Amino acid sequence: MMRKILGLLILLSASCVGAASVQEQMEQNPAVKAAVEELVLANHILYDQNAVDGYGHISVRNPVNPNTFFLSRSVSPPVVKVEDIMEFDMNGNALNGDTRVAYGERFIHSGILKDRPDINSVIHGHASPVLPYGLTGTTLKPVYHMSSFLGEGAPIFEIRNVAHPNPDTDMFISSPDLGNALSKSMGLQYFVLMRGHGYATGADSIKKSVFRAIYAIQNASIQAEAMKMGQVQYLTPGEAAAAQATIEKTIGRPWQLWSERVKNKQ
Ligand SMILES: [Zn+2]
Repeated sequence: MMRKILGLLILLSASCVGAASVQEQMEQNPAVKAAVEELVLANHILYDQNAVDGYGHISVRNPVNPNTFFLSRSVSPPVVKVEDIMEFDMNGNALNGDTRVAYGERFIHSGILKDRPDINSVIHGHASPVLPYGLTGTTLKPVYHMSSFLGEGAPIFEIRNVAHPNPDTDMFISSPDLGNALSKSMGLQYFVLMRGHGYATGADSIKKSVFRAIYAIQNASIQAEAMKMGQVQYLTPGEAAAAQATIEKTIGRPWQLWSERVKNKQ
């Protein structure tokens, strides 16, 4: 009996979380407030560091409800404000009766966050340095320690393989099915290329997902330059694992710099 009552109470509190607006949740819970404020800052940093442009987005899982996530309404990253943040379920449905226009590609976030409990923040963008890898099938691999999380190389999502019945799509991840297929392509890695479109990446925190987006893009540029000069020496899987363990302990350092840059511009 007690168990039933307890279960009912948990259900009730979960539905209350879903029913409260993002603003109300921020007022009630410091962890939500911190996550939403960091998400807004991350939008500005990603634009300032050329990881996104007028398009692109970043999400974060709700710290008090793992089955929902926060993502801006459909505006460009550098102009995102706290009031723009919406809450979604893991099928990409907006919660709290929020009827504002959402990003058409929110399913990238719901697909990956649903499949990957180890990932709490997802980024999608169209940064041009990564595009040639998705187009040619040349594997994007870690050429230096900063992007060691790329491991043995980024997988490439081919939308033609999953779009039914017509393989000629508009290239957008515009449905839960396409978001789930993209997530399957990513597998257990942290970065996936999208042929003719862009990339998606993720990590257990906003800071780390931003770090990974920025350094994967830098890796793409360095790798392309190196390939013109000759045979490229990539990090071995062992080097990549060791370097990742070391470098990802220090991400607070560039985050401070990136934050101050955008704060000084405001
Ligand atoms: Zn896109």
